[in-house]
Amino acid sequence: MAKAVKRGINMIIVLKKDATDAQIDHVVEKIKDAGLSVHISKGSERTIIGAIGDEALMASVPIEALPGVEKAMPILKPYKLVSREFQSENTIIDVNGIKIGGEKIQIIAGPCSVEGKDILVNTAKQVKAAGATLLRGGAFKPRTSPYDFQGLGEEALKYLRDAREETGLPVVSELMDPRDIELFCKYVDIIQIGARNMQNFRLLTEVGKTDKPVLLKRGMSATIKEFLMSAEYIAAQGNHNIILCERGIRTFETATRNTLDFSAVPVLKEQTHLPVFIDPSHAGGRWDLVEPLAKAAVAVGADGLLIEVHADPENALCDGAQSLKPKTFVKTMESLRKVAEAVGRTL
Ligand code: PEP
Ligand code: MN
Repeated sequence: MAKAVKRGINMIIVLKKDATDAQIDHVVEKIKDAGLSVHISKGSERTIIGAIGDEALMASVPIEALPGVEKAMPILKPYKLVSREFQSENTIIDVNGIKIGGEKIQIIAGPCSVEGKDILVNTAKQVKAAGATLLRGGAFKPRTSPYDFQGLGEEALKYLRDAREETGLPVVSELMDPRDIELFCKYVDIIQIGARNMQNFRLLTEVGKTDKPVLLKRGMSATIKEFLMSAEYIAAQGNHNIILCERGIRTFETATRNTLDFSAVPVLKEQTHLPVFIDPSHAGGRWDLVEPLAKAAVAVGADGLLIEVHADPENALCDGAQSLKPKTFVKTMESLRKVAEAVGRTL
């Protein structure tokens, strides 16, 4: 009878950044000689080898002594690369000098969707003056109705690039289709994967092959474990620059658009080394809830916030009800600074 095959990676071997192809081949050969099979992830930064099979067989291989190997470790959790077991220190992602996941809380602000160049650049200038460090704006919108505004597409990405040129703010936009990856790599600094695509595994795999940081939003019905498994899909391809974003989940409650799961922040912080953001705009669905939810997010330990700001919310083409006016955003930032200070962070 054929021996049952153990599925999943039992051990991870992380290669040094400068490991050569010959060194990688040698490591692979050693693992195979020991009777295990391998899964190789060649990322833009480094190669990771997963050894699959009976871990005991690896005992005879002095894996960490092989040239090109940085470390080798057994992983017990279903998510491996994104787990705290794999990396105890927090991941800090550097986006054009802005450090995400460090002591400073980073604020991504801007309209739900990009509606035009002037309105975007003006909003960008105002959110920057108020202290936002990144600009958001949708180009391809995931709308429930096919008859609603779907976004300006590539034109919007060009406006985002223009706004970055004028303000210096790095830009974030949502990718829905793997066919647009090249376009996004050209125009944006962070690729957002929306709640509706959190388990679009082909999309996750494709962004994992890029070297762009990814803002991964929690699916509206996803457990924390599923959320982390989705991050693992990205990491498994070699891209470890992932920001997790809690944006509210669906519960029986209807008073708010979603129920913001604040517990996700400390739980994620315990389970993963990745930065954790909160989006109080999509969570509450109402502009007047943004400030209280944002304050609580800072207090509970979020590394950043994603806040929708629109110059004229009443006439916004998408999510006007939850968008702050630039003036309200200024006031919100002021009150957030006090909370940040109280919890030993800056903003
Ligand atoms: C958004 O950020 O505009 C958005 C659509 O968010 P979510 O995917 O969380 O619904
Ligand atoms: Mn929105």
